[in-house]
Amino acid sequence: MATVAFIGLGNMGGPMAKNLVAAGHAVTVFDLVPEACAELQQAGASVAETTAAAIEGAEYVITMLPAGKHVASVYTGTDEQPGLLSQLDGSVTVLDCSTIDAQTARTVGEAAAELGIGFMDSPVSGGVAAAAAGTLAFMCGGSAETFEKAKLVLADMGKNIFHAGPAGAGQVAKGCNNMLLAIHMIGTSEALEMGARNGLDPAVLSEIMLASSGRNWSLEVYNPYPGVMETAPASNDYKPGFMVDLMVKDLGLAMEIARNSEFDNPMGQLAQDLYQEHQQAGNGQRDFSSILEKLQA
Ligand code: NAD
Repeated sequence: MATVAFIGLGNMGGPMAKNLVAAGHAVTVFDLVPEACAELQQAGASVAETTAAAIEGAEYVITMLPAGKHVASVYTGTDEQPGLLSQLDGSVTVLDCSTIDAQTARTVGEAAAELGIGFMDSPVSGGVAAAAAGTLAFMCGGSAETFEKAKLVLADMGKNIFHAGPAGAGQVAKGCNNMLLAIHMIGTSEALEMGARNGLDPAVLSEIMLASSGRNWSLEVYNPYPGVMETAPASNDYKPGFMVDLMVKDLGLAMEIARNSEFDNPMGQLAQDLYQEHQQAGNGQRDFSSILEKLQA
């Protein structure tokens, strides 16, 4: 079992840290929100007063923060405060599980490498339910040596752990995956609505496409048409699930990856436009499968 510092105890980080405690690791936590820390204390974690105090004696440092600017300031510091990297030594493994821009992940990874610290961007696929169930998929970017060490703790929070490549590769993999998710959710919604407008029962059409070449994840486990799949957010007034706001964030990161590699991705661009319009129409907090309603309008 390992000594772990966990920073960022929000919707995702909270249940992830709880799973590490449940697996028997010695976990010290920190979050800017005291209530989030108190909840982890009840679950058996120690609470630190600062990020610097949280990492004392840690073999692993894990962060689950909102965006690249938070990750950069925690690790490489600000004008007012030194970053955590300057306080760590080469024996520590650093895992950032946040979804952030690939460039920041590379920059932090390079800064860590210069200090001899193993850093791995390890963003996740799977939402709050998968975080609680310990079934997340991790997409990792860093050295093979860091990946081997990372598996010891990642295995207690997820069930699929992939080594995508060097620093930043985890974020690129996540960007590719979520861009494709947006595209096939929109495509699935479009096909179901076209069928329904032509008199087909969406449940029957779903069955046909599931057994045909249109089969995809949205149809299999996340049908966007209300009433077809009891457990899907569509059958529960599109309560998330995975919010439109988060999909818009992830599509922004995917488009940044495309731009930085001078890659023209018209389907990703269209998916971003549609999800941004849907968000601006007041649907940010609804599940991303509610894009069906935009197509029905
Ligand atoms: P959240 O806003 O619920 O949690 C973020 C937490 O970080 C908050 O508790 C905040 O107080 C804390 N924080 C911010 N700056 C901090 C600092 N300097 N020091 C300590 N704590 C700090 O967000 P979330 O939903 O848990 O998402 C976290 C990350 O996971 C994001 O990058 C998100 O894109 C990604 N993600 C989220 C989901 C999801 O379904 N929610 C799914 C996959 C990936």
